[in-house]
Amino acid sequence: MKVTVAGTGYVGLVTGVCLAEHGHSVTCVDVDDKKVALLKTGISPIYEPGLEELMVKNMDRLNFTTEYKEAYKDADVIFIGVGTPEKKDGSANLGYVYGVSEQIAGSIEKDCVVVVKSTVPIGTNDKIEDLIKFNLAKDVNVYVASNPEFLAQGTAVEDTLHASRIVIGVEDDFAGEILKEVYKNFDAPIVVTNRKSAEMIKYASNDFLALKISFINEIANLCEIIGADIEDVADGMGYDGRIGNRFLNAGIGYGGSCFPKDTKALHWLANFHDYELKTVKAAIDVNENQKLKLVKKSRKYFDSLKGLNVAVLGLTFKPGTDDLREAPTLVNIPIMIEDGANIKAWDPVGVENFKNKYPDEITYCNTIEDTIKDADLCFIFTEWDEVKSFDLSKYSELMKTPIVLDGRNCYDLTRVRKENMIYDSVGRETINSFEVSLV
Ligand code: NAD
Repeated sequence: MKVTVAGTGYVGLVTGVCLAEHGHSVTCVDVDDKKVALLKTGISPIYEPGLEELMVKNMDRLNFTTEYKEAYKDADVIFIGVGTPEKKDGSANLGYVYGVSEQIAGSIEKDCVVVVKSTVPIGTNDKIEDLIKFNLAKDVNVYVASNPEFLAQGTAVEDTLHASRIVIGVEDDFAGEILKEVYKNFDAPIVVTNRKSAEMIKYASNDFLALKISFINEIANLCEIIGADIEDVADGMGYDGRIGNRFLNAGIGYGGSCFPKDTKALHWLANFHDYELKTVKAAIDVNENQKLKLVKKSRKYFDSLKGLNVAVLGLTFKPGTDDLREAPTLVNIPIMIEDGANIKAWDPVGVENFKNKYPDEITYCNTIEDTIKDADLCFIFTEWDEVKSFDLSKYSELMKTPIVLDGRNCYDLTRVRKENMIYDSVGRETINSFEVSLV
């Protein structure tokens, strides 16, 4: 079976590499010639644990190209994994998906199954089918299937090789059978449904997780006010099998390329049909507020950050990725810059991407020690292992004033209590060894 994947981003590349790992010959197409040139030399343009190694291991079954016509013309199955970013009004930008659909229509020379992996609003697969059929250059049959992706960045390879489920949305048996054949070596439950239900499974799953995060963050905010401890609360809740203990980590909100846009896109779609998804709207609103929590907290200690040395630990939206899309740092750091702070930042893999946005305004450091040296204030935005395992005594040893604002609850409070520092996290007691207000 000849498999082609359109898009070599987090979804497309991981899909292509994992399909190759399971024995398929895969051609990966991208319009970005720099990405393709890197991929040809065995270098992954994105950081994802285990991805580059698996790609290099399967190089004899992988082909990377920008020549889409060649790649599509005799493919049995074409996966679409291009981006569906958010438009200004919150709806999904389907320009890339429709663009690639037209390229497919103009290129295919034999019957094929087009599989939509990109997250697309309910009903889009039907439109893709119409678009391809309308623009077909040759008299061939095309079957469109929805196969939404559930991988999480940071664990994308694992999530794909050992998927929680494979959802196949089809309107005909043929496409369903072909997809089952494609996935026959994957050890995962397969859910077969119609295309609209498959599209909805993706949005409902992401929006539910976003809601769970916003819910625990609201409870954390209330814990701070009334003096409860969110870690204990989440722990106590998590034992209930109906609730589960995952996605109950309070923090400064979700980011990334999926939850923010997928909540807004579903809310937009519901509105378009004159229905308001109130729970999803609440998740969005809570998250917008939560993202600014750390910089707001800093006002408890300093009226302004002007002239202060500020340390930033973690730039990416979560650990295990170099992706900055919708990262809380992108709304907090501009405020710090506007305030006139002297910012030093550290991140194990996200620095190069951040430098593209802020080349001169920030001093980028290679170690946490260098970042916090002489700092008046330290912000933790990402719970990288290096941050979590950092020797706490170094904060008081190296910082000018050891005030740490932790947006990811990296440290156990019993450990913090042994140190000389002010430690302000999310939904927990503030530890202030000095018992003084600095304002
Ligand atoms: P991405 O931005 O990382 O990658 C998209 C790629 O598509 C880019 O490399 C771009 O150059 C390429 N592209 C654009 N037009 C093209 C064309 N005509 N032909 C070939 N390539 C083209 O996007 P992503 O994060 O991989 O997301 C892709 C889709 O998967 C989105 O709909 C997203 O919502 C969904 N998704 C993403 C994740 C995730 O964690 N990133 C998880 C599940 C689902």
